[in-house]
Amino acid sequence: MKVKLAAQVLSRSVADALEYALHHLKHPKFEGCEATILFLKKFNDLFDVLNSRNFLGKGYKSPFMEKNKTKFFQLLDETEAYIRGLKTSSNGELLLTSQRKTGFLGLLVTLKSIKSLFLSLCEGGDLKFLLTYKLSQDHLELFFSAIRSHGGHNNNPTAKQFKAAYVRLLAHHQIMTSDSANCTILDDTNILNVSASKNTYLKSINDSDAQRDDIDQWPAVESLVQDLNYCVNAFRHQSQYSQDVIGYVAGFVVKKLKTSLRCVDCISAVVEKSKSPSNLLLIKNRGGLNLPSDDITNLCKLGEKVFRIFNAAGKLTVRNVMHRLILYTLNDIMSKGMDIFHSLIKHSVDHAPQDNHRIFLIKAVLFEYFKLRLCHAGKTETEKLQANKTRSLNLKSTLFKGH
Ligand SMILES: [Zn+2]
Repeated sequence: MKVKLAAQVLSRSVADALEYALHHLKHPKFEGCEATILFLKKFNDLFDVLNSRNFLGKGYKSPFMEKNKTKFFQLLDETEAYIRGLKTSSNGELLLTSQRKTGFLGLLVTLKSIKSLFLSLCEGGDLKFLLTYKLSQDHLELFFSAIRSHGGHNNNPTAKQFKAAYVRLLAHHQIMTSDSANCTILDDTNILNVSASKNTYLKSINDSDAQRDDIDQWPAVESLVQDLNYCVNAFRHQSQYSQDVIGYVAGFVVKKLKTSLRCVDCISAVVEKSKSPSNLLLIKNRGGLNLPSDDITNLCKLGEKVFRIFNAAGKLTVRNVMHRLILYTLNDIMSKGMDIFHSLIKHSVDHAPQDNHRIFLIKAVLFEYFKLRLCHAGKTETEKLQANKTRSLNLKSTLFKGH
C-alpha cells in the first residue's frame, strides 16, 4: 500500500473539493458525500497531530505541549469515539469487529500511545513538548527503502549485502529513497556536504536535481552583466542603469528558479507582483519575460554589493568563494534586519527547522546570482590572461623573425 497517496487523499483539500462540488456545483454525482467529508476532515486533523515536525507549527501541526493539551486530548478522544462508531457500508457491522479492522485498530493503539507518551514524558517533566513525527515509523521505512535500493532493488539482502549497503549509506550518500517507497521524506536530516558546482539549496527545496543552465535563452544577460562590470568600474556605486540591469538579471534568476522549483508556495513568493519593476525589464518585456518580486530584486542588489566588496578586495579567487559570498550576504541581511520573503513565514514553519524553505530560497536566489557574476568574472579574467599570452607570443616570434 502506498501510504503517501493515502495521506494525500485523506486531506482537508480533498474535503474542501468535495464540499465545493456538493454545495456550490450541486453536482448530482456528489450527493450524500457529507459522511466522506467528515471522515476526511477527521483524518486530516489526526494526521496533523501525529505528524508535527516544527516547534513553531500552528493549529494541530503545533507540537503536543502543556498549552494545547486540552485541545489535543479532546481531538484524540473525539477521533477515538468516531473510529469506534464507524460501520461498514455493506451490512452495518462495526468496523472494529469486521474483517477490515487492522488499520483502524492500529490507529486506536497509536492514539493511546501518544496520549500516554505525552503524560509520562511531558507531564513527568522530562520534555517540554512532543514532536510526533519523530516517533513515526517513516524513518525506518525510508532507511529500509534505501537499503533495498542497493544491490539492484534487492528485497532480500544477505547479511553481507546489508552490511555493505549500510556502510555505503553511512559513508557516501544521504538516505535517498526510491519514488515507489511507502512514504516521502518530510524531514531531511542531512549528512553535511559541500558542493560548489550545484545549487544545493534549490535541491533542498525540490529534492531533485536543478535543471540545466539555459543562459542561451536569455542572450542579453551575458552582455548586460558585462555592462554591469563596466558600471562598477565607471561609477563605483549602483547607478540607476546598474540598478535596472540588476533588476533584469533578477528576472533571469526568477526564470531559472521557476523552471526548477516544485514547491508551490516558494514559486508564488518568487513571482509575487513587484511594486517597482526594473524599467529595463519593462521595456524589454514583450510578454514573455519573468517579472521578479521585489524581494528577489533586493536580494540581487544586496548580492551585487557584496560581490563588489569581494571583487575590490581581490577575494574572488579564494576557496569556496560561493559559500563565502552567500554567508556574507546572509550576515548582511541579518544585521540589517531585512524582512525578505515575508509571505513565506507561515510556510517555513511547515517544515522542520533545518529545512526552512525561506532560508533555502534566499540562498538559492543568491546562488544563481553569484553563479552568473562569477562565471562572467572568470571569463573576463581568462580573456585577459589569454590576451597577454598572445601578445607575448607575438613578441617572441617577432624577435625571432627579426634575427
Ligand atoms: Zn516551499
